[in-house]
Amino acid sequence: MLIRFWGTRGSLPAPLNYRAVRAKVREALLIGLERGLQRAADVEAFIDRELAFAVRGTYGGNSSCVELVTGGDQFVLCDLGTGVREFGNNLLAKYGPARKYQFDVFLSHLHWDHIMGFPFFTPAFIPGNLIRIHGCHGAMREAFVRQQSDPCFPVDFRTLAATIEFVELKPGQRYDINGLSVMPMLQNHANDSYGYRFEHAGKTVVYSTDCEHKYQILDERYPFVEFFRGADVLIFDAMYSLADQISVKEDWGHSSNIVAVELAQLAGVKHLVMYHHEPIHDDRMIERILGETRRYDEISRTGAALTITSAYDGLEIAV
Ligand SMILES: [Zn+2]
Ligand SMILES: [Zn+2]
Repeated sequence: MLIRFWGTRGSLPAPLNYRAVRAKVREALLIGLERGLQRAADVEAFIDRELAFAVRGTYGGNSSCVELVTGGDQFVLCDLGTGVREFGNNLLAKYGPARKYQFDVFLSHLHWDHIMGFPFFTPAFIPGNLIRIHGCHGAMREAFVRQQSDPCFPVDFRTLAATIEFVELKPGQRYDINGLSVMPMLQNHANDSYGYRFEHAGKTVVYSTDCEHKYQILDERYPFVEFFRGADVLIFDAMYSLADQISVKEDWGHSSNIVAVELAQLAGVKHLVMYHHEPIHDDRMIERILGETRRYDEISRTGAALTITSAYDGLEIAV
């Protein structure tokens, strides 16, 4: 499998403003001067090797959307945040609008940041395409219709040319969807959310965003340990710091980087991907949190080392 991240920010998109871009350009130029960069031919290597990711790149512009490439005919997506706009446009640019596409979408929940990209998903406007939206919420259709209703949006959901089906799944049950094994799990979040455990060709990817795991209840018996067990990749809502999660932001429905490591260690996860970044965290802050999270794993682990990544739009992970 291949995992492509199209949107990694939590709550709402958080694009960089002019000052933030300028500060990155400035820092890159200063580092170039300091390291004696002189030839155009050395620029690519300089960017990749000498600049920290927070200088040469950025985390989380778009809201939640992740693609799972399974090698099947259908396209598999988790959530329809604003990242899905770029996914759709990219697909049409690559294969053209004449091809008939089938999408299997797995929806964590109906909060706005997880569905707000759909009105801008171009394949939904093209007849012949099939979009199946899987989820455990009974009100899925209603949420999509309401999102595209007068006076908030000019194109009514019911006029979209593609065939759009909603498929209600039951948490705790395993499904085979076009050769992909899927199991949803109820999560602790306002209005409920659901994580998904995907298994395909001997590999396991768990998508688990918008869930608050109480720090006090983490042990072997905690049901999420089994749900995450042995995952090759765990995509995890690590929106807050532990201090925030257990004080001001308690019961806000999200988890921290420390809880992420604790659970990943208990479950024997191989690769932990921190996801759904807090909008007030800038690139420097996310990079710092990533460093601290790796350090926490180092000093607390008893088993094998975890690979830990902070998700960014454009990240690809081969499983
Ligand atoms: Zn969210
Ligand atoms: Zn939410």
